[in-house]
Amino acid sequence: MGFTSYFTSSLFLYYRGNTAVGSDGVRITMESALTARDRVGVQDFVLLENFTSEAAFIENLRKRFKENLIYTYIGSVLVSVNPYKDLEIYTKNHMERYRGVNFYEVSPHIYAVADNSYRSMRTERRDQCILISGESGAGKTEASKKILQYYAITCPASDQVQTVKDRLLQSNPVLEAFGNAKTLRNDNSSRFGKYMDIQFDFKGAPVGGHILNYLLEKSRVVHQNHGERNFHIFYQLIEGGEEDLLRRLGLEKNPQQYQYLVKGNCPKVSSINDRSDWKVVRKALTVIGFNDDEVEELLNIIASVLHLGNIQFGGEDSGIAYITTDTQIKYLSRLLGVDGLVLKEALTHKKIIAKGEELISPLNLEQAASARDALSKAVYGRTFTWLVNKINDSLAFKDESYKNPSVIGLLDIYGFEVFQHNSFEQFCINYCNEKLQQLFIELTLKSEQDEYEAEGITWEPVQYFNNKIICDLVEEKFKGIISILDEECLRPGDASDITFLEKLEDTVGGHAHLTTHKLADGKTRKVMGREEFRLLHYAGEVNYNVNGFLDKNNDLLFRNLKEVMCMSENTILTQCFDRVELKDNKRPETAATQFKNSLAKLMEILMSKEPSYVRCIKPNDAKQAGRFDEVLIRHQVKYLGLMENLRVRRAGFAYRRRYEIFLQRYKSLCPETWPTWEGKQVDGVSTLVKHLGYKPEEYKLGRSKIFIRFPKTLFATEDALET
Ligand code: ATP
Ligand code: MG
Repeated sequence: MGFTSYFTSSLFLYYRGNTAVGSDGVRITMESALTARDRVGVQDFVLLENFTSEAAFIENLRKRFKENLIYTYIGSVLVSVNPYKDLEIYTKNHMERYRGVNFYEVSPHIYAVADNSYRSMRTERRDQCILISGESGAGKTEASKKILQYYAITCPASDQVQTVKDRLLQSNPVLEAFGNAKTLRNDNSSRFGKYMDIQFDFKGAPVGGHILNYLLEKSRVVHQNHGERNFHIFYQLIEGGEEDLLRRLGLEKNPQQYQYLVKGNCPKVSSINDRSDWKVVRKALTVIGFNDDEVEELLNIIASVLHLGNIQFGGEDSGIAYITTDTQIKYLSRLLGVDGLVLKEALTHKKIIAKGEELISPLNLEQAASARDALSKAVYGRTFTWLVNKINDSLAFKDESYKNPSVIGLLDIYGFEVFQHNSFEQFCINYCNEKLQQLFIELTLKSEQDEYEAEGITWEPVQYFNNKIICDLVEEKFKGIISILDEECLRPGDASDITFLEKLEDTVGGHAHLTTHKLADGKTRKVMGREEFRLLHYAGEVNYNVNGFLDKNNDLLFRNLKEVMCMSENTILTQCFDRVELKDNKRPETAATQFKNSLAKLMEILMSKEPSYVRCIKPNDAKQAGRFDEVLIRHQVKYLGLMENLRVRRAGFAYRRRYEIFLQRYKSLCPETWPTWEGKQVDGVSTLVKHLGYKPEEYKLGRSKIFIRFPKTLFATEDALET
């Protein structure tokens, strides 16, 4: 024939003479092609012989990573290892290669996942979602951008659709400017969770979108750890803003001038060009549909936050605070359109309503500084939500005649976090991951079960750890950790972080997944602080320090500061601070409860869709190409639940393929099926595998697919092809 094809578990190789070209685009000689499986590993972990061995799993990842093959499947789950370098695998040609092609015919790629979801949405008319997880720096946001780009380029388009595509793409730089920051782990770390729906019309063209945002890390506005920065937008504005704009905003061209930007001692980052990013963001705002006035108002707010940070107070430590920096008040008064005197008063006094009466009391130095910071956080946090809403307006699907667009949702949300010191934020983030893990287990098992049922094959129950018990421990009414925390937040009198901890001990002390210093046995006490509680998450143990839990959960802003914001002439601010809030004397929902409710809604959304998963892994902590840090990777394999995922997937049959595809590939191995099989496909496959000597326990025939239990059976058949 002169042109034969050979299939290893990891590559398709096309032979011409002595050279073979893999579907990964790798050129290899005939000799090395024969050992390709050894060299580049298997492209689907379910084909690993020793599938329960974590070492074998990691070895397979390593082999592929060394060959720049960053993607590997576990069934239909895509595992991706951040290469920290440009691999040139995201070109238009690559997009074309994956368009409309079956998952298994090409090497694993993020485009295969994108395309598969798109085709399922089109052919089965079922909404899809792609859930991307992994720790900070693992490549989640990059993956979600690749998926969006894939749709923007490969989906059909008209002029109107082009506008939507542009807006969808341009929403990224804007959200990243306001919601991302340089951290120790990632120079462009997303400090909020994001779920984005992309809506498609009946022709399969993207016609709209909608974004939900979760838990922005507001504390970063007022404080950054050493080596970290505030949100990108501040530096972009200062470095890139035109002279007259900065003059209008009263800003100097030096980030070191601003208290809110100096805490991390890290104004410049080598991988970031704030000046050119500013131009990109400014243009993106226009594409999304912001007019000049709106941009001006938005920047007035950003500049105001910097001025707020430079407000200083005088007075004795425990005495009454007064403001010593009048210039800042002048700027704030002008930029926000508020009365300077009223603002000054509000920054140094607190007003609360008790039993229908207004009580005003002066603040001391520490209280005034924290009221100022609370205002900055509230202003920034609410402006961020406003921005998301504004982007949503611009992405909204406007065709009234077409009511039900199909949807693909993209979830790019923080992964499991375990630091030296874990606080309220990590508690929320890890709770979120616990919920996602629960969803994953339920849906994966369910889809396995559904497939077996659809094919008429007996379902063998799989043993797995159901983490519902941990979700309940956190979220249950009355008895859950969040309820107990809320109760302490509402309790007048001596409630404190420590009384919260004590209440935890009293209420859920006996729970198998919770320990505190007091409850711990001698062995664990050594590594637990007195102010900590420990949760045994599905992914491992985490100690949380209760310091700040009550304050962060309350997330209070004094009433008079809210009043000033409501009176502002800045129309963005008046949308963010609604007067209704002042009339309504009900306590706002606590931060944890808000988060819990928004997660519940998210779970509902995800449950209604068909999920695909992308699991991202960070290969090293140095952000370096080519380094594969085994210890770090082993942790992530654990946190991502990959071994469990593989076990569930392998519990039944490792490999399944539609009859016609199986027959097409192997028909040459049996005289009765070669060159064509005239009868029913299932009979052809049956004849073929009997001829190959498959034993009855090695395979099952379903309605449309053959199920093969062990990879070695398939490998033997592959090897037979070759001889
Ligand atoms: P965080 O949780 O902090 O937001 P993340 O998982 O979203 O982290 P990304 O911002 O997507 O991480 O990736 C971090 C960096 O890694 C990117 O800025 C980029 O330099 C590099 N990177 C990620 N994915 C790829 C890829 N597929 N190819 C090349 N470089 C990548
Ligand atoms: Mg990110």
